[in-house]
Amino acid sequence: MSRRSGRHFLQIPGPTNVPDRILRAIDSPTIDHRGPDFAAMARGVLADIRTIFKTKNPVIIYTASGTGAWEAALVNTMSPGDRVLMYETGQFSILWRNLAVKLGLEPVFMPGDWRHGADAAAIEARLAEDKGHTIKAVCVVHNDTSTGITSNVAAVRRAMDAAGHPALLMADVISSLGSIDYRHDEWQVDVTVGGSQKGLMLPPGLSFNAVSDKALAAAKSAGMARSYWDWAAMIAANENGVFPYTPGTNLLFGLRAAIDMLHEEGLAAVFARHDRHAEATRRAVRAWGLEVVCQNADEYSSALTAVMLPAGNDADSFRKIVLERFDMSLGNGLGKIAGKVFRIGHLGDFNDLMLAGTLCGVEMGLGLAGIPHRTGGVAAAMDYLMAGEQN
Ligand code: PLP
Repeated sequence: MSRRSGRHFLQIPGPTNVPDRILRAIDSPTIDHRGPDFAAMARGVLADIRTIFKTKNPVIIYTASGTGAWEAALVNTMSPGDRVLMYETGQFSILWRNLAVKLGLEPVFMPGDWRHGADAAAIEARLAEDKGHTIKAVCVVHNDTSTGITSNVAAVRRAMDAAGHPALLMADVISSLGSIDYRHDEWQVDVTVGGSQKGLMLPPGLSFNAVSDKALAAAKSAGMARSYWDWAAMIAANENGVFPYTPGTNLLFGLRAAIDMLHEEGLAAVFARHDRHAEATRRAVRAWGLEVVCQNADEYSSALTAVMLPAGNDADSFRKIVLERFDMSLGNGLGKIAGKVFRIGHLGDFNDLMLAGTLCGVEMGLGLAGIPHRTGGVAAAMDYLMAGEQN
């Protein structure tokens, strides 16, 4: 392969671009994970990661991808055969359901249309029917990365309370953490599942469970077998600044830098930046005459935008052209929308000109691929970004 000049545009909705400061932090000598320097670093990271989840409770850090933390959430709190209500928001809700089935749980899967988020009223009605409280958990993907839809987790909490249902509330924030406002304690979420490779700007390899007191209590009597994922072993070791197993030492150096960067910018500013780039992207999509997958404006994702191509056009051929001509990776359509949709990631370490470059690549790719569209999407996004500066 011949050398490609310039920087690759990694505009998939995670893993995201890893900023140089984090790369430099990771690029340090690996230290003794049972020594005093590690313990001092780990104590700080374990304390400060709580601020990103907006919780005062423990956050367990696994050396694993997000799927591991999905599994951890369930095996620590559930017993074999337990029923778990899961709402279909897109492919990631389906994958979490499939994992629950493999673990021997019994998902109560509420079908969705992939164009709207979790319907809190429907969840309330379903829970109200469960008079015997056989449903032990409600699992929602906060930001479904396949559809670009952000569900209202606070509304799901209110729905559970309105139904007077004691199930645990679990939320997957793998593609919203550090990009879209999320409040573990305030929304009374029991288990929040996060990952390192998206809004946290790290490479893949770390994942998280933020846990409520109620979840910790449930873990004491939960009957599922667990070993590597066991919260109790993790929390006991973490109190001394260590991990029960060899941790991802260098990824934790990176996590230290990521938390510092999010604090320096300020979480509110980080979320506002993501909102602004998402709105600029949607304006470009509309100007092209294309449609975003998400149909409810209250549920637009600020982390990514999934775009539908006119029927009969192949989204994967379009993405191939964009990759080959402009060295930019866009997200593919997943599951039942494979080939019909492409996804623009605008999350993580990102700025106006990176967005403008991304949208330029998309607009040129649409032209080269012969996809029916209007030009002017980039200009519409630029107008919005400039107007924002003048306010
Ligand atoms: N949940 C969501 C919302 C995701 O976006 C992903 C991955 O992209 C996962 C779960 C699975 O995580 P992983 O691929 O890190 O195991």
